[in-house]
Amino acid sequence: MCTGAISRLRSTSSATCCIPTLSLYTGRGCPAQCTFCLWPQTIGGHKYRVRSAQNVADEMAYMKRLFPQVREFFFDDDTFTANLPRAREIARKLGALGLTWSCNSRANLDYDTIRQMKDGGLRLFLVGYESGNEQILKNIKKGVTKDEMRRFTRACHQAGVVIHGTFVLGLPVETRETIEESIRFAQDLDVFSIQVSLAAPYPGTELYEQARLNGWFRQTDKTDILHDDGFQDSSLEYPELSKEEIFEAVERFYHRYYLRPKPILRIIRTMLEDKDVCVRRLREGYEFFKSMAQRRSDLATARRATTQTTAAPA
Ligand code: SF4
Repeated sequence: MCTGAISRLRSTSSATCCIPTLSLYTGRGCPAQCTFCLWPQTIGGHKYRVRSAQNVADEMAYMKRLFPQVREFFFDDDTFTANLPRAREIARKLGALGLTWSCNSRANLDYDTIRQMKDGGLRLFLVGYESGNEQILKNIKKGVTKDEMRRFTRACHQAGVVIHGTFVLGLPVETRETIEESIRFAQDLDVFSIQVSLAAPYPGTELYEQARLNGWFRQTDKTDILHDDGFQDSSLEYPELSKEEIFEAVERFYHRYYLRPKPILRIIRTMLEDKDVCVRRLREGYEFFKSMAQRRSDLATARRATTQTTAAPA
């Protein structure tokens, strides 16, 4: 066994999974058609090609022996639940191994399926909700409605499965009102933790072509997906909403979500339950406020640059 691999395993950091976490793939591709999603459109394809349930179970049994210190396994397939009969079969087989695991899922499973997966050791779903606006969900071909998302989330709460929900700001056609709707939707869903990203129209995606044809790129060279310091930038903007406003809304989204009694109490509870988690949450909190301050500074710099360019003589 490679000790280097083990030391890396110990130092692995994850905001959502129990550490040490081991991440692995059981298949490639996603049949969903989300217009913004990089992986199926550029690398993995839309056909979900999978290893058999038995092959996965055998590997997991081997992993359990090889890495006894791992507290959680994460199936990083684009959508592990895209082939439900197989996902259920894997869950049945993993239940016998007594492992804790988590995976990516769409928000469209029923209670019985979620319950069965929970019984097989599932702890957490990583779920892309993306937006709280029904029209945006249609525009991006999410293929899941808000009602389905609500039902799925309630079923997970009922079954005791934790959710890390992801949202994207700046999808077509975002407005101040749709951002507000997404924030309120996230608050209503009230999942354990969230991640808020900015739409990133990569070449090769349908979103990129739409942005090009509709003139949603602020800059014609389309290179501003990242700031120099590595922070994600909003490269799209719409007639009613500037890229700066979209960028700024990320922090507002986080504040309005986390600075409420329920999430704060949830976080405190997990900190009281486990000393390691307590240290981790404190570090994450520090990193979060530091990164938000850096984003504000980036935004102020960008606004100054825009003002200077506008004020410069022709
Ligand atoms: S369901 Fe998830 S992985 Fe599949 S295309 Fe949509 S965003 Fe991408």
